[in-house]
Amino acid sequence: MPEHSAFNFKANIDKALADGQLRGNLRSAMDGLRVKRRAVFPAADELEALRTQGEAIKRRALSRLPELLTQLEAKCTANGVQVHWAETKEEANRTVLNIMRRHGAELMVKGKSMVSEEMGLNHFLEDQGLEVMETDLGEFIIQLAGEPPSHIIVPAVHKNKDQIAKIFHELIPDTPYTEDVDELTAIARATLRQKYFQGQVGLSGVNFAVAETGTLCLVENEGNGRMCTTVPPVHIAVMGLEKVVEKLEEVPPLLRLLTGSATGQLITTYFNMITSPRRKGEKDGPQEVHLLILDNGRSAMLNDPELRQSLQCIRCGTCLNHCPVYVRIGGHAYGFVYPGPIGEVITPQLEGLEKAGALAGASSLCQACGEVCPVRIPLPDLIRRMRREGVGQGADCCVRDCGTKRSALESLAWKAWALLNTSPRLNALNNMILGRLGNHLPKLGPLAAWTTGRTAPRFAPKSLHQLANEEGLHRD
Ligand code: SF4
Repeated sequence: MPEHSAFNFKANIDKALADGQLRGNLRSAMDGLRVKRRAVFPAADELEALRTQGEAIKRRALSRLPELLTQLEAKCTANGVQVHWAETKEEANRTVLNIMRRHGAELMVKGKSMVSEEMGLNHFLEDQGLEVMETDLGEFIIQLAGEPPSHIIVPAVHKNKDQIAKIFHELIPDTPYTEDVDELTAIARATLRQKYFQGQVGLSGVNFAVAETGTLCLVENEGNGRMCTTVPPVHIAVMGLEKVVEKLEEVPPLLRLLTGSATGQLITTYFNMITSPRRKGEKDGPQEVHLLILDNGRSAMLNDPELRQSLQCIRCGTCLNHCPVYVRIGGHAYGFVYPGPIGEVITPQLEGLEKAGALAGASSLCQACGEVCPVRIPLPDLIRRMRREGVGQGADCCVRDCGTKRSALESLAWKAWALLNTSPRLNALNNMILGRLGNHLPKLGPLAAWTTGRTAPRFAPKSLHQLANEEGLHRD
């Protein structure tokens, strides 16, 4: 990931917009994902009923979160799963390292996990001299390329077939160049296959953790998740504390919403339900299972009734696919682990507004993200809340670094705007000046940035008031 202190959102956006290849790749991938989602939810009323159900399940779980987490811990422990808690990502990384050290492990095979990305786990373990092998195909590709994921669900969505062929040819020893998709998949498979048997530790994410049974549910399409969680002798599952739900019967509606929204599938190829380490008489499975539950700022979100809704997210990625900003700039421009509308809401809360507050500006507030979110998170409202927190002060604020995006110049500009629009005389004067001179203003500073890709609006020579006066319609 980029150095956050050097995070320059505007420069990242300019770079992404200038990259025609990136825009083309994103465009075709996002178009495809949206079409598939629409096809899998053909009946609007059925989808709305499912969304209502999904929202209710997540809201209910959040309203009883401490109780459900305690229940989950007790059930997991009774099932033989070792539960660890981490308040920060540093603590979480150290916990994983300790487990690996205890087993003398030097290689971890890793399934897809956004929480592990949030922790910066790969870099942390590599700095300790350990090897981490990503096994999800998309993650494998970007690990080879030395890049972070650019999408929550499709990490290598910004790459096309030709680019992947080049990466494989250049970075996997003795690999001939091929653009044949089957051959590329076979190359990845052959490279990864041996690693599953060499890795002493396998790591996975968790899509849903069921409190009443202690079941860890894992959704995937490639079978790599199953390999990571069954072949190595030790399995570590990492999850944010919001992943818990109360009952097993609540999983199917959430699963349907997740797979349909994420990839337009009725069900994924694999759905794993992990309840314990290998039991006596069982032929496979790890000897140890660890569940690592990460807070990293989530408790603070839970304490605010509006921000708490951020924790309903099931990480389906569909808000990204429908966002006109994300679709044009891709995930890397956002500079942090979670891109798109959900990233604009949770990253400032996780990283603070000083570092990440600019993200909330990357929205046209067209409402598309809120309309497609399967658990009805009011993303546009929460994005506006982040903007308010960025310039806010006093008791209304609760997000870290609140008020640090306040600009004296912008504040002055809005005060002037308010004055011009609340004083009839000033408003009439302003309209008259703009009508005469507005179309001849030089396009400088922010105006130049605005008009580079857009046609500047033309000011009417006469205001509505003037026209009404001339027609004798004005009552003043
Ligand atoms: S905010 Fe909603 S649409 Fe976006 S990733 Fe989360 S669940 Fe999916």
